[in-house]
Amino acid sequence: MSKISKQNGILNVPDMVTIPFIEGDGVGAEVTPVSQLVVNAAVEKAYGGTRRIEWMEVLAGGKAYEKTGCWLPDETIQAFREYLIGIKGPLTTPIGEGIRSLNVALRQELDLFVCLRPVRWFRGVVSPVKEPQKVDMFIFRENTEDIYAGIEWKAGTEEAKKFLRFLTEEMGVKKVRFPETSSFGVKPVSREGSQRLVRAAIEFALQNRLPSVTLVHKGNIMKFTEGGFKLWGYEVAEKDFPQQTFTMPQFDRIKKESGEVAANRAMAEAISEGKIIVKDVIADAFLQNTLLMPEEYSVIATLNLNGDYISDQLAAMVGGIGIAPGANINYLSGHAIFEATHGTAPNIAGKNVVNPSSLILSSVMMLDYIGWKEAAQSIVKAMEETFESGQATRDLARLMPGGKCLSTAEFGDVIINQLIKC
Ligand code: NAD
Repeated sequence: MSKISKQNGILNVPDMVTIPFIEGDGVGAEVTPVSQLVVNAAVEKAYGGTRRIEWMEVLAGGKAYEKTGCWLPDETIQAFREYLIGIKGPLTTPIGEGIRSLNVALRQELDLFVCLRPVRWFRGVVSPVKEPQKVDMFIFRENTEDIYAGIEWKAGTEEAKKFLRFLTEEMGVKKVRFPETSSFGVKPVSREGSQRLVRAAIEFALQNRLPSVTLVHKGNIMKFTEGGFKLWGYEVAEKDFPQQTFTMPQFDRIKKESGEVAANRAMAEAISEGKIIVKDVIADAFLQNTLLMPEEYSVIATLNLNGDYISDQLAAMVGGIGIAPGANINYLSGHAIFEATHGTAPNIAGKNVVNPSSLILSSVMMLDYIGWKEAAQSIVKAMEETFESGQATRDLARLMPGGKCLSTAEFGDVIINQLIKC
């Protein structure tokens, strides 16, 4: 068994590599095998047998519970820890079992602080916006902090009352509108957490020669948490990447000292030198702008809750949930889990109609991450040609004029035939 490792910041990927995978609940049993067949075909085509993936199943979710009585066995977490990189299908959220979400548990165990969601449009896929070809973004959503930390107390409980007493008696807070019937939540946002996220986003933009990184926040209202994220984000750009970035605060300083013409000139120079423009926008304006001028945005760095809303809106703009890939990554340790972003879709499970594109595209992200770019590109090309020819699973084909509706397995076969042909 060949393991990926990370030394001195560099990922070492053996040619015969073992990748642990979680099949997933519900439609997981359909999308996982199809995505593996596609990846195997692409790797074979790109490297003619000199590179290969050995898939190693690890258990989580319903399958794990049936076999071991545990939703997320320690061996599974251990495998991801040891093999560094893995992939997973969707998992049921167990109800009343003391685990908030298996996905959240995996992210926390491995400190996967970036949730990366690339969003692009494929020609042929029907979109609700007029110019979906202008949508080409990479969302870096902070994965470990914010209101998602799960620190909250229900109205009426002793804890909520105690917290209220602390707020009013010790902190002098007088602004709770209905104190007796309020639930409370805490929103931790740190300099470290914000800066490692923004640093990862800037490094990604540099590696992929992307023009800008936009910090999306609600700092106008939440000054120390979301506002802190913005300030710390700019700080990391200016301190860690002074030669490679040009920030909006820099622009403003030049404007104040030397006037608008000089600031515009400095910005134009930075762009011509290939520097990354680091800017910020308030989250609500951002959601509006993505509909009106999506071409203004490339890499997005944002906090957990904003990132949740943004990911879904942008996914909808390019064809929806069945086609949106994702990954949870710790760029420092190298750990990464690539995943289908949709759920277990119990209403269509077992019917061979589910769209496997989300997991296939997440596999593409994984191939890119390990540097097997030729294999990744061949899958993307095959998908482009398949969608352009009007072939897709039911969720997308029914919206395409004259679209040909394929089953899950047929869709996989068409992609494989297409990539073999190219
Ligand atoms: P869901 O994503 O499973 O389904 C929402 C709707 O989208 C359904 O109509 C479904 O048929 C459709 N859909 C989803 N994926 C599709 C695909 N690939 N192709 C075609 N149609 C697709 O969301 P839900 O119903 O809210 O959740 C069901 C279960 O999944 C819950 O237990 C939830 O906790 C879990 N869940 C897991 C993940 C994950 O593992 N990443 C994400 C979301 C929800």
